[in-house]
Amino acid sequence: MRDLNTREMLALVRTLLGGARFLHQAPRWSHDEMQAWQFARIQPLVRHAWTNVPFYRQLYTAASFRPDDLRSWADFQRLPTVTKDDVIANYPARMLADGLSPEHLIVSRSSGSSGKVLDIAYDSRAMVTYTLAGLRLYQMGFSYRPWHRQLYIYTSPYPFRSLFGLYPLHFISTLSPVDEIVAAIKRVRPDLLVCYPSHLQQIARAMTDADCSTLPLKSISVNSEMSTQAERDALAERFHCPVLDEYSSEELTRVAAQCRHKTYHLFEDINYIETQSDGVIVGTNLHNYAMPMIRYVQNDLGAIEVRPCDCGWRFRHLVNLQGRKNDSFILPSGKVLSSGFLLDATYEFLLAYRTAVKDFCLIQEATDRVVLQIVAGTGWDSDIERKITQRFREFLGSDVEFHVATVAICDKTKTGKRNPIINRIHSRSQS
Ligand SMILES: [Zn+2]
Repeated sequence: MRDLNTREMLALVRTLLGGARFLHQAPRWSHDEMQAWQFARIQPLVRHAWTNVPFYRQLYTAASFRPDDLRSWADFQRLPTVTKDDVIANYPARMLADGLSPEHLIVSRSSGSSGKVLDIAYDSRAMVTYTLAGLRLYQMGFSYRPWHRQLYIYTSPYPFRSLFGLYPLHFISTLSPVDEIVAAIKRVRPDLLVCYPSHLQQIARAMTDADCSTLPLKSISVNSEMSTQAERDALAERFHCPVLDEYSSEELTRVAAQCRHKTYHLFEDINYIETQSDGVIVGTNLHNYAMPMIRYVQNDLGAIEVRPCDCGWRFRHLVNLQGRKNDSFILPSGKVLSSGFLLDATYEFLLAYRTAVKDFCLIQEATDRVVLQIVAGTGWDSDIERKITQRFREFLGSDVEFHVATVAICDKTKTGKRNPIINRIHSRSQS
């Protein structure tokens, strides 16, 4: 992701001032008011997609749909859904609005946790809204003030370090060893910690009780991987502050997060979320005009309920959320490589070799043997293979045999498993 330029930073601040009021009020609207607002945004979005985005025009034309046909929610629900494979096959030329190219946009690359590589592009205006929604998300956990320090453990840094000195951000890579992460936590003394749940488990093990109780932490936000409420409750006790889960995706950005009462509230002003009869989550992003995501199949499972919450928010509740859970690896030395670490170790080569890797699957076949299956794309060569091998040997240590195998189809696809990180030893003993 590139850094924001000055013009975009100024736009960010203007929208910050103007948009903060809206984002503060929207959670308190009634369900009917919110639905009316969402529909009023969806109508022009669908018209824009039909008019300006080749993929949608073809999709909707094939379904004999024209923008004037969209008059009710029932009409909307008749629109064809869009899958990850659709997006991958049509990006960028047919997925972006006419006249736009990735160089003019902010592009975020993801494998999600499914391992298929996907680029999502949006403009700086949408970026501003997502940033504000991010601030609001952390305010669900505590009164997040401009002087509070956030430490986030993530794949790559955000495109800004603070908002003109406010809300200072400290970044540490997910690929850093745990003792370095712990040292950063002790040095930064964050008020807010944002990380993967598997990292938080490792941090909890690496810190003493005294370490934990002297930190000024007010809230911890976990994301990107499944964790159970029981796991989060235990971590909350360990760190003496709430541990709240965020459910987001690269494609839809902010989808839902837990408030202090542990309710997952959908961010109704960012996405319109539906669930199919089989529970699959489908979302429409209400802000991305550069690369519209309309009725996008998110492939996690959940249900939606309308009921009150003690926090006062009236955004609908997401319940029975079931996302993907990847495996962790235990090495011969006893060292654990968490699912979050492994996912980001694979993320590193996805970012470095953008077109060369179409799909992958990382498998621990035995305690001392790991294979990385790669479906090769444009530009794959022995040099890339050598670099990836070298990097994984660093991660795994010399007592683990590692090799890359180029395949036509990955094992996860053959078995119908969606997870790109598989521990064969673990799954044999567990199931
Ligand atoms: Zn709530």
